[in-house]
Amino acid sequence: MENINLVSLPHFVSVENLHVDEVEALIKRAEYFKRGGATPRLTKPVYVTNMFFEDSSRTHTSFEMAERKLGLTVIPFDPAHSSVNKGETLYDTSLIMNALGVNLEVIRHSQNEYYNDLINLKEHQHLNIGVINAGDGSGQHPSQCMLDMMTIHEHFGHFKGLKVAIVGDITNSRVAKSDMELLTRLGAEVYFSGPSYWYSKEFDKYGKYEELDKLVSNMDVMMLLRVQHERHAGDPNEKKFDAKAYHEKYGINHKRYNELKPDTIIMHPGPINHDVELSGDLVESDKCMFVRQMQNGVFMRMAMIEAVLRGRKLGGLD
Ligand code: ASP
Repeated sequence: MENINLVSLPHFVSVENLHVDEVEALIKRAEYFKRGGATPRLTKPVYVTNMFFEDSSRTHTSFEMAERKLGLTVIPFDPAHSSVNKGETLYDTSLIMNALGVNLEVIRHSQNEYYNDLINLKEHQHLNIGVINAGDGSGQHPSQCMLDMMTIHEHFGHFKGLKVAIVGDITNSRVAKSDMELLTRLGAEVYFSGPSYWYSKEFDKYGKYEELDKLVSNMDVMMLLRVQHERHAGDPNEKKFDAKAYHEKYGINHKRYNELKPDTIIMHPGPINHDVELSGDLVESDKCMFVRQMQNGVFMRMAMIEAVLRGRKLGGLD
């Protein structure tokens, strides 16, 4: 049995409330699962449902894989054919799941901080369900952030002093929000680049905005983001968007790739738009961690779910 502190949480909705020690413990636990370490023995059944109100390939399947590896029973939920389309609220939908016996719900929703209604309960509210946030609008993406931290830690063994550039549509990216906050607290130096109109002064407290070509040869991590077209309603820059021009100005092409330091890694949460933020033929290049991130995601999500099982004393764990 390895000596790893086990984290307990009632919900997992944001990285902002996590203590650095908890982050480190979750990374260790995920690395342990990745090495083939035994999963906790559940002595009671645990039912989980994955409610994805926004599109997903990776996160949805990754959570389901993690749930099954932990021995949870996955109850299907299809938002496209649910009573949400008849006007039922997310809170009432959660009440149903809970009343039917579901213990945990993993939710992706377009509304920022949708989870507040589900976890900050007043007297007389019946809901008693663990919530894991799989992405809220342009707010937070804690599981992507945690798997990113695991991947950086796996490569460098530490965070202190690492130079990390976050490049792209930062304003609309929940991955950027979670990552900038946690990376700073872990001691990394954060830099930003990409179109200035998708950067906002509020990020200055986490790092410095620079032209991409000033950063390329100095960074340890180049974290690339997809342009979040689905969040650009009413944004005049959306109309002007030109993929080729974006790639030339803000994308990693072969020229920029060759300027990276030998040990630098490229990260991307996916989905990647080939030849926009990254040249299509660099997706599986040596420096690109895209596949590694997806692999690590399953193990990190196992660690995160386990923390909530413990926090809620589910499956006989405590
Ligand atoms: N998959 C990530 C998310 O859901 C990144 C993206 O969609 O660009 O936020």
